[in-house]
Amino acid sequence: MKELTDETSGLRKYKAKRNFRETSEPSGKVLKRKAGRLSYVIQKHAASRLHYDFRLEMEGVLRSWAVPKGPSFDPADKRLAVHVEDHPLEYGTFEGVIPKGQYGGGSVVLWDRGRWFPEGDALADYKKGKLKFRLDGEKLQGTWTLVRMTGEKSDDGKNWMLIKHRDETARPASEYDVTAERPESVETGRTV
Ligand code: MN
Repeated sequence: MKELTDETSGLRKYKAKRNFRETSEPSGKVLKRKAGRLSYVIQKHAASRLHYDFRLEMEGVLRSWAVPKGPSFDPADKRLAVHVEDHPLEYGTFEGVIPKGQYGGGSVVLWDRGRWFPEGDALADYKKGKLKFRLDGEKLQGTWTLVRMTGEKSDDGKNWMLIKHRDETARPASEYDVTAERPESVETGRTV
């Protein structure tokens, strides 16, 4: 399989959108990492609209989805997850303020982080548009699915859904709302 490079990965788009003299976000590059340990991170991002950036390590980059409402432990909540450009792995430790006027201007907090474990072949499943995985994070655990929408609402394949799988970690939204009960940064305890 051909390895991703800065040019062939979504990092080309990532870099084109940002002025690294103005923003303290990492410029980054595709990293070669040993297979086996895969990280994930969720950044709460108070841009023009608040959203949660859900990022899974894949092919040496962070494959990324913007989830407006954030994750839910309730399998009945199908959360829209808009596929956005790949981010460099170094982005996974970024917390701070993107200056006003820059792309994504607003504050970013490290809302959750941990490891993810694909069920099956992550890359093949990603390309097929249905990724099932387990999360072992500070706030999120258990099995989840990211599935690409089809039909009218798919917006050319950009729109996916993040859905909690029914397992022992699932909880009804009436009982537990993780975004409301755990708003803080896992790094600094700050809220946006
Ligand atoms: Mn964002």
